[in-house]
Amino acid sequence: HPVVAIIGRPNVGKSTLVNRIIGRREAVVEDVPGVTRDRVAYDAEWSGRPFTLVDTGGWEVDAQGIHLRVAEQAEVAIELADAVLFVVDATVGATDTDEAVVKLLRRSKKPVVLLANKVDDQRTELEAASLWSFGLGQPWPVSALHGRGTGDALDALLEVLPRESAVPGAYQRGGPRRVALVGRPNVGKSSLLNKLAGEERVVVDNVAGTTRDPVDEYIELGGKTWRFVDTAGIRRRVHMTRGADFYASLRTQTAIEKAEVAVVLIDSEDNIAEADVRVVQQVVDAGRSLVLAFNKWDLLDEERRHYLEREIERDLAFVAWAPRANISALTGRHVERLVPAIEVALDSWDQRVPTGRLNAFLGEVVAGHPHPVRGGKQPRILFATQASTRPPRFVIFASGFIEHGYRRFLERRLREQFGFEGTPIEVSVRVRE
Ligand code: GDP
Repeated sequence: HPVVAIIGRPNVGKSTLVNRIIGRREAVVEDVPGVTRDRVAYDAEWSGRPFTLVDTGGWEVDAQGIHLRVAEQAEVAIELADAVLFVVDATVGATDTDEAVVKLLRRSKKPVVLLANKVDDQRTELEAASLWSFGLGQPWPVSALHGRGTGDALDALLEVLPRESAVPGAYQRGGPRRVALVGRPNVGKSSLLNKLAGEERVVVDNVAGTTRDPVDEYIELGGKTWRFVDTAGIRRRVHMTRGADFYASLRTQTAIEKAEVAVVLIDSEDNIAEADVRVVQQVVDAGRSLVLAFNKWDLLDEERRHYLEREIERDLAFVAWAPRANISALTGRHVERLVPAIEVALDSWDQRVPTGRLNAFLGEVVAGHPHPVRGGKQPRILFATQASTRPPRFVIFASGFIEHGYRRFLERRLREQFGFEGTPIEVSVRVRE
């Protein structure tokens, strides 16, 4: 999809516009300048045409160097876009900062739609007209708050927006793969997200209410762009009041369902809790691929490490197939191992075993270990096929009832033979009389 960057000074009403355009209330609007945050990308659509709307985030407003920061932020955003929505506050008029951005826009030669926002009445409409002086063409008078004029402005955007994106890398076509970071509160999800996204550009949770509500974040790792889904729940700290558990688990469920791979964080320093196992089970039940990240590894001593291994064997044996990384979101230890682990898990999730190979293999297994005889009868395995990928699902046709234990045995052998590291697999049996 083509990429549209929305740029403008803080407080010109960008977030309100984003909400208008994506038709949701998720980008929380705030009037506090000085909030730094990352680029946030939203799926948007107008008149049936999809595009990616990238909100470039605020820039720090300090007395010195403001122009520089604005220029840097805007420059990157413009570079990574196919078209730009440039938002100006009509009630304020053109500022020096705006002029600096105008220069960048002219040089970039990207299509620009100039929005004069906060035009709530006739008088400001005249103010808006003065923005012709930018030389960026017609200023579109809009009121993001009331929705006035935004439709016309978006129509104008579609006229200049290419159908396909020419932006390399950052928001590649075909879609970046979707990753969920999940785990119980305080395991270090937001610390890890910040580590991955690049420390400086992301607000940590210490100032209540300063982070906005990005839905998904696009982060470049190992030369690829990844889509971290539902990061709002990670960025926005939820206080543990009554009922919060329920909502936390609901949010976890949503994130898992939106993702293709889930990285479950577990606090290595703490005992593995039922809540940890439950999150892992949610991933398996949803049929998503899985990576286990044991965080806070920097805090472990020898004794705890040994004990933890025993706990893992006891509580997480059912996902012994999941790749594992022992990390520290704090120090960055082994965080770089997450990407290869995620790639392995996704490859397995996508894997398809050709029917010929599958049946040749099953034939051998069954010949070596036939199904036990019950009541004088022995069910035969007739044929098997992989019904789907993502996750791999197998259907085995048999001449009679296949015991649970034997089905598990076949599942284990399938794993041994074909790998499937990092993905749950499903084996079901159909009985043909
Ligand atoms: P979340 O609730 O899962 O998002 O957890 P946070 O990222 O907010 O982390 C909870 C606490 O654990 C914070 O005080 C972090 O500083 C701390 N923390 C996170 N990761 C690590 C780590 O790898 N090592 C250590 N020592 N502390 C960590």
